[in-house]
Amino acid sequence: MTATVPPPTDVRPDRPTARPAWVTDRKLASWNRWVACPVSGGDGELTATAPYDGRPTAPVPACTAEDVAAAARAARTAQADWAALPYAARAAVVLRFHDLLVERQDEVLDLIQWEMGKARFHAWQEVLQVGNLARHYARHGAKYVADTKVRSAVPLVTSAREVRVPKGVVGIISPWNYPLYLGVGDAIPALLAGNSVLGKADPQTPLTLLWTRALMAEAGLPEHVWQVVAGPGAAVGEAVVDNVDYVAFTGSTATGRQVAQRAAGRLIGASLELGGKNPLIVRADADLEQAARGTVQAAFANTGQMCIHIERVVVHTDVYDAFKEALLAATSGQKLGQAFDFSCDVGSLASQAQLDKVTAHVADAVGKGATVLAGGRALPDLGPFMFAPTVLEGVTEEMELCLGETFGPVVALYRAADDADALRIANQGRAGLSASVFSKDLASADALARRIRAGSVNINDGAALAAGSIEAGMGGLGDSGLGRRHGGEGMRKYTDVQTIAASRIGPVGPPPAAPLSKFVAMGNGQLKALRKLRMR
Ligand code: NAD
Repeated sequence: MTATVPPPTDVRPDRPTARPAWVTDRKLASWNRWVACPVSGGDGELTATAPYDGRPTAPVPACTAEDVAAAARAARTAQADWAALPYAARAAVVLRFHDLLVERQDEVLDLIQWEMGKARFHAWQEVLQVGNLARHYARHGAKYVADTKVRSAVPLVTSAREVRVPKGVVGIISPWNYPLYLGVGDAIPALLAGNSVLGKADPQTPLTLLWTRALMAEAGLPEHVWQVVAGPGAAVGEAVVDNVDYVAFTGSTATGRQVAQRAAGRLIGASLELGGKNPLIVRADADLEQAARGTVQAAFANTGQMCIHIERVVVHTDVYDAFKEALLAATSGQKLGQAFDFSCDVGSLASQAQLDKVTAHVADAVGKGATVLAGGRALPDLGPFMFAPTVLEGVTEEMELCLGETFGPVVALYRAADDADALRIANQGRAGLSASVFSKDLASADALARRIRAGSVNINDGAALAAGSIEAGMGGLGDSGLGRRHGGEGMRKYTDVQTIAASRIGPVGPPPAAPLSKFVAMGNGQLKALRKLRMR
């Protein structure tokens, strides 16, 4: 089997190669050794297309379903010793990884850009987020999975505790849009909780994950505790679900449903971080310059390929025109381009498929009467998959992009008569991932936020504030998924609760010689007394 992402049609020989000079064949071979294909030894290769130049990146071995099963078995064997270590020993590995990541970040920034095409600043945000998660969970994660003492059935002579035990082997399936943050950020709490991890690399961005796995080995992570498999999404992804004890999936709602069904068939748990159609509300009293800046940051970050990015802006009618002017000025102030430095604000889309989808959404909307206020077209002179940041108005429900996720640098403006109307528009559709409210009145914004159907709501920020507040859970409502990453829930989901109850007097219950009726009377007396004393 050879799984190859097809190259785009317009490879231009005049375009310089995007492959970073320091990425030698030797380095690639050393990363590829982390692809776990113990049975097949690599069943063909997987090669992605680099968004900046349209050329192939570098081949990575593809795994078979048998490879995935064998990798899971090795991970299961390695897990016992890993879980037996004290939390502090696991945390020490993660903290060493943190330091290496910060020190060697230029390497991974190059790889993320080469494979995925985003602007370097957005790649750096992945380093920032993973660094923060690594430190937080290493230093404070033990408390999330600490034993909890509870009142036992018989006071004084017995005790009861809830203890958290690792699930075993955790499968992590993540997409290409944040290959470091999503591929690694979710693995860290799973590892620290004492699990081993079976991670599936996305076919577009395997090198970033393999580089990171190699770095984790340098930090001291034992060989099979984090296995990486690669290959076509369906075959290898399904094999991951078939062989793990829990799956943390991030990706589209359509694939999430399939993963949920497969996991349900095996009676294993799953967290599902899925797509969004995120609204931003501009109230009449908002600071319009801030609202425009927040919209631009949140709509065009990661070239719009971010699950929590803003695709709908709902503006109070009194400030609609003034906001529109501010938004268009902020949109045109961005520098677009492909550079391995921090000179560009917005980079490329990741692939031909992404370019095709974004182009089709905009064409469909324009064909049905929407107006393009900015952008609206591909920019092939800047790069094969470059697309201009786009602002639309006049979008109606029969247009695909009204409620369907575009996942590109496209935002639509809607006019609202008042807060209630804004809320109605914001809550349209079945997605419920992230939202934003801009207002100078924080109390009213908070009241509005509580009525928006979204897992996170940012007030006076577009998207990053809640996601960066890593001690709080992040995830979706409705079609945007189940479960949470980050915070306590982002670690506890990788554990099972076990109750351990102990008696110092042997079996609880009626003493051998006493009549049962006496025991029942005593029990009833206790029930009444506790009720009177308002205990329990
Ligand atoms: P996708 O669902 O096509 O793929 C996601 C991952 O699943 C990939 O690694 C893919 O190879 C794998 N996969 C494909 N078929 C599979 C199957 N049958 N079983 C198991 N795994 C399978 O998603 P995509 O289009 O690559 O990613 C973009 C989507 O991800 C968008 O909808 C975006 O909103 C969403 N996303 C959500 C979050 C979040 O936290 N909620 C974060 C990032 C992206």
